[in-house]
Amino acid sequence: MSDPDVVELARRRGFFFQANEAYGGVAGFYTFGPRGAALKRNVEDAWRRQFVVREGHHEIESPTVVPEAVFEASGHLDTFDDMVVECPECGASHRADHLVEDASDVEDAESLPVADVEELLATCDVDCPTCRATLADEPVSGFNLMFETSIGPGSSRAGYLRPETAQGILVEFPRLKEYARNQLPFGVAQVGSGYRNEISPRRSLLRVREFTLAELQQFTAPDGDGPDLEPVADQTLRLYPADAQEREGECVELTVREALREDVVANEWLAYYLGRARRWFERVGVDPERLRFRQHRAGELAHYASACWDAEARLHGDWVEIAGFAFRADHDLSKHDAHSDERFTLFREYDEPKVVERPTVDPDMSYLGPEFGDVATDVADALEALVERDPAAFRSEDVTVEVDGETYAVPVEKTGFSVDEIRETGEHVTPHVVEPSIGIDRVVYGVLVHSLRRDEVGGEERTRLALPTAVAPTVAGVFPLTDGQADRARDLADRLTRRGIPATYDDSGSIGRRYRRQDEIGTPFCVTLDERTSDDERATVRERDSTAQVRVPVDDVPETLASLRAGETTFAAVSREYDDDRQ
Ligand code: AMP
Repeated sequence: MSDPDVVELARRRGFFFQANEAYGGVAGFYTFGPRGAALKRNVEDAWRRQFVVREGHHEIESPTVVPEAVFEASGHLDTFDDMVVECPECGASHRADHLVEDASDVEDAESLPVADVEELLATCDVDCPTCRATLADEPVSGFNLMFETSIGPGSSRAGYLRPETAQGILVEFPRLKEYARNQLPFGVAQVGSGYRNEISPRRSLLRVREFTLAELQQFTAPDGDGPDLEPVADQTLRLYPADAQEREGECVELTVREALREDVVANEWLAYYLGRARRWFERVGVDPERLRFRQHRAGELAHYASACWDAEARLHGDWVEIAGFAFRADHDLSKHDAHSDERFTLFREYDEPKVVERPTVDPDMSYLGPEFGDVATDVADALEALVERDPAAFRSEDVTVEVDGETYAVPVEKTGFSVDEIRETGEHVTPHVVEPSIGIDRVVYGVLVHSLRRDEVGGEERTRLALPTAVAPTVAGVFPLTDGQADRARDLADRLTRRGIPATYDDSGSIGRRYRRQDEIGTPFCVTLDERTSDDERATVRERDSTAQVRVPVDDVPETLASLRAGETTFAAVSREYDDDRQ
């Protein structure tokens, strides 16, 4: 099955569809329908359960409109660009790197310098996808992906819709560290909208202009202990390291423990989250056989990352990034520390106070003033900066400093240089950050692609979404087989929804058609009440994928479905229990 099959089903069954169609729609914006919104929410909740609750992290919610200063500091204003080429005939803009990838065997044109992409446009004789005019000699320029807005009326302040949720956490570090009682490591997460003014939105949910990110910032001590790897150490990962990509080699299958031992993944926190994510992806319905982790090559790294692995899902023949796992080191916290008035460091107390030597200066202004006139204070400041940077410079007779390009020599005896012994109780450290960043829309799309099946039941073709129970929009369809069972069936559906189990009552059409409708939206169980129910007080529970059935006492149905949904039991176990019961 193809992208169009998924898109058609999504539209027909209310998973997602192009937004604002009444007004022609705008590329890159989608509305999630009733089923899609429920599926997406379930995926987000599954993310929360794993990456927030089970890890003992905290979730916050920060604004989506962010003042310019934040993105000036983070580097997004200068570097969050894609390469654009404009058609001289029709004026359409296209992503230059994507055009050359489509026209050549270059796989990752994004990491190439602009001049190389321009050359490839020419040598591959690339045409405009809209009007077919040649783009061979057209210039390629950078296009910043952030949506700009203005905050307030009049001489308003510039702001941007956030392109990632991460800055909303990083910029609040001075407060968040207090909530964590100044103890590393700690993690802060958030799930919410991100906005990128993509040049060419494509493949429905895969490249959109507004999407949901689920991100975790794991703050760690730069020289601190790694995580407890035990829970994931034996988890196998399919890894595609950078060097294997260079020589067009294969993926390697290694456990988390082996990947670290063999230095394939260099950072313990990254390895830990790759292991956690591998299991989580499977739980929400990404096929592990169509999942790999690909390391970024040096030229490909985002401006903030020192190392990065992408989770990629195979979707109709292509490997598509669905999540990124970046080692951001101290990039963001150092930038915010330098650009703002707050301190983005954390004071770490030593086990025992340390006595350290601290070189200082106390310049003799009665000498510097007459000697250097207007620049005397600048010379004194330069001496103070120098003693911190290079105390050894004060070992000769004269020390030289530079002020506005001019050199000034000062006798060391006039600098008040001394080395004092002081007692330090701790030090300021800038934590490192490891960031698992999951694109929820791409995961939802991947789950739909990997779940969509066609098979035959009773000689009839059926379409089925093999969604895991944990994320399925509806857990149970409840059907009366005869009018006489309608009230009981309605009552059962009501009991299920009151217990928080999404259930839907359906009495229209043949039982076969009712099953097909639920199969197509991924409902894992259907519960049918028939004439026998009045005698034996049992209902038939049918499982979607195997179509196997078991008769369960009506009163046990809510508890049974709740356990199935929570993953505490399996349909096979339920069948065994109730079949035995009837022996
Ligand atoms: P990045 O910060 O670029 O690594 O993006 C983090 C995650 O967001 C990616 O792994 C994708 O899953 C998702 N993502 C990025 N851009 C888009 C987009 N235009 N449309 C949908 N999802 C996106």
